[in-house]
Amino acid sequence: MKIALVGIGKIALDQHVPAIAASSVWELAATVSRQGAVEGVEAYTDFAKMLEERSDIRVVSLCLPPVPRFEYAAAAIRAGRHVMLEKPPGATLAECHALTALAQEHRVSLYATWHSREADKVAAAKAWLADKTLRRLKVTWKEDVRRWHPGQDWIWEPGGMGVFDPGINALSIVTEILPVNIHLASATLEVPSNRQTPIGAELHFAHPHGAEISAVFDWRQTGEQTWMIEAETDKGTLVLLDGGARIQIDGVEDALVSDNPLAGEYPRLYANMAKLVAQGEIDMDLRPMVHVSDALALGRRISVEPFND
Ligand code: NAP
Repeated sequence: MKIALVGIGKIALDQHVPAIAASSVWELAATVSRQGAVEGVEAYTDFAKMLEERSDIRVVSLCLPPVPRFEYAAAAIRAGRHVMLEKPPGATLAECHALTALAQEHRVSLYATWHSREADKVAAAKAWLADKTLRRLKVTWKEDVRRWHPGQDWIWEPGGMGVFDPGINALSIVTEILPVNIHLASATLEVPSNRQTPIGAELHFAHPHGAEISAVFDWRQTGEQTWMIEAETDKGTLVLLDGGARIQIDGVEDALVSDNPLAGEYPRLYANMAKLVAQGEIDMDLRPMVHVSDALALGRRISVEPFND
């Protein structure tokens, strides 16, 4: 299947291009970007022109930041293309609902991808938790923004989500592995005095059976980086490490094996997209984004020291 990649920046080059190149299902047939390009692939700067000229390309994968992405997604769907969205699927929830309705109307597939859900040990964690009674779950997602987002201004602008840009990855895993839905109860947001979005956040959730659920996101962590989810249950403690790439049960590494034959988060996302297109389905699970929107709506803001690159 021919596919066009739109927004040739960090994640497109780091993950999407290699995942498509390694796939026997997909062929990268065009790129659309104002400056970026991929060697050997027809490069457009005008999205409307690509949609018009390349009717052979039925699928479009959008790797732009969330704020500009909606217009591209809507245009692609109106042009009858199947659309794959980087996370987060939009700048607002209403935008995401609008895209879902548009995709239904035009009978195309639409996929809100959550790459962290495809990390190696997430499926195993979900299976292990399914028959346990959860007592406490704690997310610790601490990384160095200067290392992972050098020179990216959009993350600090309205709609850029700040520390929730990585934090939503943790929430995508939590909403996947828990057998019940949770909802935000309270949050604290630390916002640099010269920026629009948080650099740190603490979230507390209500759980239907009273488990204690919390998350700490911090973009000021230098040195060792931490992407960890700890779940204490009646039958032991599960820890997901390195963003879901590693698992421990009661301190024992690799106590559970993953049975997914396809390696890598992005190859799995593209395999999922191929299935959605083949079956004419839409996958728009917005739960991770609901928690972020609720935190931004309900969170108590604390002004912290200015952030400069
Ligand atoms: P990025 O490199 O800053 O942006 C991607 C590309 O989008 C840019 O190179 C730019 O290409 C285009 N773009 C930026 N602003 C635009 C605008 N206003 N209008 C049109 N095009 C615009 O961002 P990224 O890090 O790749 O992240 C993109 C998305 O992927 C985000 O939603 C992010 O959360 C997600 N993601 C990122 C990572 C990561 O490690 N960085 C990991 C997983 C997911 P041109 O200038 O050539 O048009």
